[in-house]
Amino acid sequence: MRALVTGAGGFIGYHLVNRLKENGYWVRGVDLKYPEFAETGADHFIIGDLRTPDVCLDLMEGNIDVVFQLAADMGGAGFVFTGDNDAAIMHNSAMINLNMLEACRLKGIKKIFYSSSACIYPEHNQLDPANPICAEESAYPANPDSEYGWEKLFSERLYQAFHRNYGIDIRIARFHNIFGPMGTWQGGREKAPAALCRKVAMADDGGTIEVWGDGQQTRSFLYIDECIDGIMKLMNSSFTKPINIGSEEMVTINQLAQMIIKISGKNISIKHIPGPQGVRGRCSDNQLLKKELNWAPQQPLLEGLKTTYNWIEKQIHALPNKLTK
Ligand code: NAD
Repeated sequence: MRALVTGAGGFIGYHLVNRLKENGYWVRGVDLKYPEFAETGADHFIIGDLRTPDVCLDLMEGNIDVVFQLAADMGGAGFVFTGDNDAAIMHNSAMINLNMLEACRLKGIKKIFYSSSACIYPEHNQLDPANPICAEESAYPANPDSEYGWEKLFSERLYQAFHRNYGIDIRIARFHNIFGPMGTWQGGREKAPAALCRKVAMADDGGTIEVWGDGQQTRSFLYIDECIDGIMKLMNSSFTKPINIGSEEMVTINQLAQMIIKISGKNISIKHIPGPQGVRGRCSDNQLLKKELNWAPQQPLLEGLKTTYNWIEKQIHALPNKLTK
């Protein structure tokens, strides 16, 4: 099997390439950049901009059997929820998906995976932190709280339309907060688990870390290895509608911070400051996943956090001049 992974220089793409290689695939990767923290495992890696239609067309050469489309202009709350990057997020990611699907159609690619997001779910179903509603069918009537979510929803529909009208086989995963080693941990695009690991690792024993908002907002977080398991299981299924890939272990951001503080072994207190937060509550609903894939992630959050914390701590020690708190 020959696979194309777009966004292969990013966090999930890097890990997916490695899994595909383990499973015997020949892999072509493409991204604006090489993976930041380790060499790519891809057989062929192209630096290219998917906003350019010709780049997408060229990528499909050489009997590609399957495409995994992970490229997007994205980041954590500090990038997505401030409003400052809305135009770029919508324009860049929509261009990527429009070009990729048209290139697949023109080059006769038979199957494509698309990475959507839990950010597509309506804001009004996620106001109560204790009882967020994120079942797949609750996506409509649509009301995502960010332009990032709206673009993902538009693109989900685009993939479904290409499936309906041109017969391209599709799989669509709605990822819920994926974390783990080799993910962005500083610079403004990092997400909550990595940002909190960095803050805790950099704090002195007896010190303080800052948390955006009151910390009562809830989320679930899925460790990267289980995310890749989910992608592979979805690809091996025949399910073509959007489906959650996430954990059902819901925690508040305060609880997440306390878990990381405990891992560090330090005595650290939390100071709440104003900052972008997103919806009040969100957690994967895995009923459909269990029904369709006969599978759901099992690993406790704490386990993945330990691995991630240790990795970020090592990064901090290795790059002392690049630190930002
Ligand atoms: P990431 O930012 O690490 O990876 C995305 C990659 O896309 C980056 O390496 C980036 O350089 C590349 N890219 C952006 N614009 C490009 C362009 N014009 N041409 C070529 N490459 C381009 O993000 P990730 O965490 O690996 O996420 C992968 C996918 O999963 C994204 O589509 C993201 O929206 C989706 N997703 C991720 C999460 C999560 O928690 N990480 C949650 C929901 C959805």
